[in-house]
Amino acid sequence: MNPTRRSLMAAGTAWTLLPGPVAGAEGAGGLHIATFRADVTPPKGHPCCGGWIKPIEVVDDPLEALGVVLLGAGKPIVLCAVDWTGILNEAHVAWREALAQAAGTTPDRVAVHCVHQHNAPFACLEAEKLVAAHAELPHIVLPDFHARAVDTVRAAVAAAIGKAAPVSHVAMGRAKVEKVAGNRRLDRDAAGRVKSMRGSACRVARLTDMPEGLIDPDLRTVAFYNGSRKVASLHYYACHPMSYYADGRVTSDFVGLARKARQAEEPGCHHVYFTGCAGNIAAGKYNDGTPKARADLTFRMLAALRASEAGMEPEAVKTVSWKTAEMLPTARVKPSVAELLASIADKNLKGAARNRPAYEVAWSRRLEKKIPVVVSALTVGGVSLLHLPGESFVEYQLRAQSMAPGGKVAVAAYGDGGPWYIPVKEEYPAGGYEVSVAFSDDSIDGIMTGAMKRVLAS
Ligand SMILES: [Zn+2]
Repeated sequence: MNPTRRSLMAAGTAWTLLPGPVAGAEGAGGLHIATFRADVTPPKGHPCCGGWIKPIEVVDDPLEALGVVLLGAGKPIVLCAVDWTGILNEAHVAWREALAQAAGTTPDRVAVHCVHQHNAPFACLEAEKLVAAHAELPHIVLPDFHARAVDTVRAAVAAAIGKAAPVSHVAMGRAKVEKVAGNRRLDRDAAGRVKSMRGSACRVARLTDMPEGLIDPDLRTVAFYNGSRKVASLHYYACHPMSYYADGRVTSDFVGLARKARQAEEPGCHHVYFTGCAGNIAAGKYNDGTPKARADLTFRMLAALRASEAGMEPEAVKTVSWKTAEMLPTARVKPSVAELLASIADKNLKGAARNRPAYEVAWSRRLEKKIPVVVSALTVGGVSLLHLPGESFVEYQLRAQSMAPGGKVAVAAYGDGGPWYIPVKEEYPAGGYEVSVAFSDDSIDGIMTGAMKRVLAS
């Protein structure tokens, strides 16, 4: 039996067990949660980060796709975090369709996000087709492996549904993360333009001495309970997750290592980590890129995971809602698609300078096909989980918290990675790396903020 047929039967079984699933999106009678885990580690030789750093040689610790399925509030809702750099455009659609099929729901009720480690796949199937036409270019993602990975996660979701547990309570915890995140766009000239980036690892004293700048200092946890038993904890924090990379060694890096340590401490609860709006946030202030620094960052994240869960006050779940808003931003006009195609073909250019334009052509063509980006929010009682695309700037996350009464909003970014960076409008004139690879113009700010308002509206 193929996984699809098996999953649909499993979903049907789960539904009949529920004491009267609530019609529509509101109400929480019979709410259940299923948890899933799948190994999505690529094979030796697979490209990392789109082919411009060393391919995979060794696996230090595996990459996982982790998530939950909520049943009993309308059609099932799937939330998934993947230890990959990115999943973009039609690959993102493929993931959502596969997981929807496995859970017996529709793709608009599936949120797939990447944690954004860099020794990992950066999956855009159209970009891969563009570079595959040039034999001398490194691959972006191997389509056979990608299809296998999607099937593995699909099977994990299907298998999980039959083991769903009731959900009676939800809680949001939060804790300040000490000495991890800093804004990476602080070095500016008199006109306010970004001069250099304080990246994920940094050894320039002038940059590490600068303050943290605008960040969201808090890690948030949304936990689901079956009576007094904590079944799943979803964690959210906004910082690029890399300590060091480009060495061909697969690792879930400091955030994934902290998650795995927390999981080992609490095997009875399913721990999932989502990266928030970290487009302009990285660990460079506190990270010199050494193994010692990775261990320190891991320890600080683990301390925050524990602290966030320490003070949680579960509330009985009375209502659940799932809202979506589709957005179709415009692609920037410069560089043009013709210029991008010329860069891909230009044998005088190297590495990212040829592969990266393929991602931008893919974004442009996807918008021509009117394939929307979906923004969604799951609201359980007084707690909202917001799902955003791409490398969104932290300002969006802070904005989302100000939109919800009580500010109980956990934000996952790095959903559909098609747009690459998503700066806020006022940061476009400041330039810098992020703006140079923001594939949409500044009108995306108004479009995305409008979508956030619609899904967070009570
Ligand atoms: Zn990034």
